[in-house]
Amino acid sequence: MIMELDHIADLSARLAGEREVYVVYDRNVEWVAGFFDFAQNDKDGAAIKAGTRSMAIDTSEERKSMDTVMEICRWLLERNASRKALVVAVGGGITSDLAGFAASIYKRGIRYANVPTTLLAQVDAAIGGKTGVNFLEYKNMLGAFHMPEFTAICPEVLKTLPERQIRAGLAEMLKTFIIADADAYSRAVSSGKSAQNPDGDLILKAAAIKEAIVERDPFEKGERAKLNLGHTFAHAIEHKALERGDDILHGEAVAIGIIMAAEMAEREGVAEKGLAARLRADFESLGLPTECPYGDLEEAMVKDKKAEGGKMKYVLPVEIGKVIVK
Ligand code: NAD
Repeated sequence: MIMELDHIADLSARLAGEREVYVVYDRNVEWVAGFFDFAQNDKDGAAIKAGTRSMAIDTSEERKSMDTVMEICRWLLERNASRKALVVAVGGGITSDLAGFAASIYKRGIRYANVPTTLLAQVDAAIGGKTGVNFLEYKNMLGAFHMPEFTAICPEVLKTLPERQIRAGLAEMLKTFIIADADAYSRAVSSGKSAQNPDGDLILKAAAIKEAIVERDPFEKGERAKLNLGHTFAHAIEHKALERGDDILHGEAVAIGIIMAAEMAEREGVAEKGLAARLRADFESLGLPTECPYGDLEEAMVKDKKAEGGKMKYVLPVEIGKVIVK
């Protein structure tokens, strides 16, 4: 369920009835986690000191690992978190992937909710219940489907997010609109030029599109695969970046991957000529990368697929607002 919030402080009302809230937050958004400093009641009804149930984590793709999940589980166990506890992840996609996965295995699964603080997580990572960690340099290789109880979207929390991160989030937003909404795509391209102020309506629209697709196909048996537009290429780019220690954000890899998918769609005769060029011009106008920095990507793609044990699957754009899975 998506919960729209004007102010992050409004969340305290939503959590007022909860008796056991465990906040796992990205250390970089301590100011957001601070809004959780309302009095909580412990299991026996006694008020506990504000802040005692918050755990700060340091986030990076390297730290998106089983070790960090185990740290979160240990922290929950040490505080005797019961099966009724609610874990709230406050941060970007790394935090929601980690805290959600920990919640999915702790005592065979407890509830969790997301308060995404990056644009990418608001439109994508914090919705849909995919949780997990990287393993042996493979992205998201261990994980579980675990649906968040709610995802609270509050554009206010993006005010401290660096511009590069906003742009990376725009890439996932554009991806959703390329899949399902040509009108919103055009609006996002024009409003995205002032990247520091993402349009709240567009954020909610992209989140709602993803939520609706996930509701129809929660375990990715069909339609949900469309959300992987650009990701077959993006995961290979990220795999290479992880191996080499290069600095490429997930959203940036997705932007490059979408262009590569559009070029493939044109080669395959699935898309009209000119689609890739239009997308490239739009993405570049928003400051997104469009060129793959690695020449030998195919090998990484095959390796990634082998590790997943599946066939190569591509999501190809036919036109803006429509894609097919091949
Ligand atoms: P992230 O969680 O690393 O956050 C990006 C950076 O911004 C971090 O340095 C973080 O500390 C900082 N930050 C977060 N919020 C901030 C704020 N409000 N102000 C200042 N700094 C802030 O990255 P992300 O882009 O949100 O997510 C990427 C991750 O999400 C990847 O690991 C990707 O695999 C995963 N992902 C998961 C799904 C899914 O469905 N589960 C979907 C897409 C991406």
